[in-house]
Amino acid sequence: MPMEENIAPDGDESPDAVPVPRSLLPQLSEIAILLDIDGTLLDLAPTPREVWVPPGLAKTLDRLHRRTSGALAMVSGRSLNDIDLIFAPEQFPAVGGHGAEMRVTADSEAVATHAPPMDKELKRRLAAIAKLSPGILLEDKGYSLALHYRLAPHAERAIYEAVSLIRADLPNAPIEVLPGKCVCEIKHSGFTKATGVRELMTHEPFKGRRPLFIGDDVTDESVFAIMPDLGGLAFSVGRRAKGVAGHFDEPSDVRAWLRHLLDDEDAVMEPFSNLA
Ligand SMILES: [Mg+2]
Repeated sequence: MPMEENIAPDGDESPDAVPVPRSLLPQLSEIAILLDIDGTLLDLAPTPREVWVPPGLAKTLDRLHRRTSGALAMVSGRSLNDIDLIFAPEQFPAVGGHGAEMRVTADSEAVATHAPPMDKELKRRLAAIAKLSPGILLEDKGYSLALHYRLAPHAERAIYEAVSLIRADLPNAPIEVLPGKCVCEIKHSGFTKATGVRELMTHEPFKGRRPLFIGDDVTDESVFAIMPDLGGLAFSVGRRAKGVAGHFDEPSDVRAWLRHLLDDEDAVMEPFSNLA
């Protein structure tokens, strides 16, 4: 189904979702911080390669990672490789490729547990959709293919129609279409961000902690939905998604809140920094 830039029709908004108060300061020793990247930590860019990482963000994340004893993870549709390039030289635990791969600690090897290779013929046919119009960008994310049309918004309908035709041709292909913000992504069915998060939360140091998940897009809704099961809280960005405990207006508010979680550390560190 074609989705608009504003992915949530009004009827889908939850009137109960309030802005996340600055007074919400969870104990870092008790929580796991789980973060979507694009549209949540980082502002969306015309193309995925053009995202801008504000100075200091990777450091903030690194400090939170240490203060939570390692229980901070990215939960993204991007591959682990891609995530590492964004935050280099820092590395974090992560669920990548919409749950296709996972890394439990910052420096462990990627574990790709749920990712059979996408059929080559299928990939070729989907890739041909990018030829429908200039401005459609094809991204091979390893475990999925993404057709970005932020630069060709008029092509949205044609893209989804072409994908539907391919799916009708291959009714048994185990694929799933993920509509996002100006992106149509096709991945293997059988894993999602939610299955990745469920699995991540069974491993130390995440196990037994209360997960706080922040996400902005349709693919994050599966994680919003499992937070109650895990005793956790979900927050959306840019809209009041159903089932969340609160929302942030934009990624800069998420970044400010994450810095705010470290305020007590700054208070302790300040007298010493004067000595430097
Ligand atoms: Mg996102």
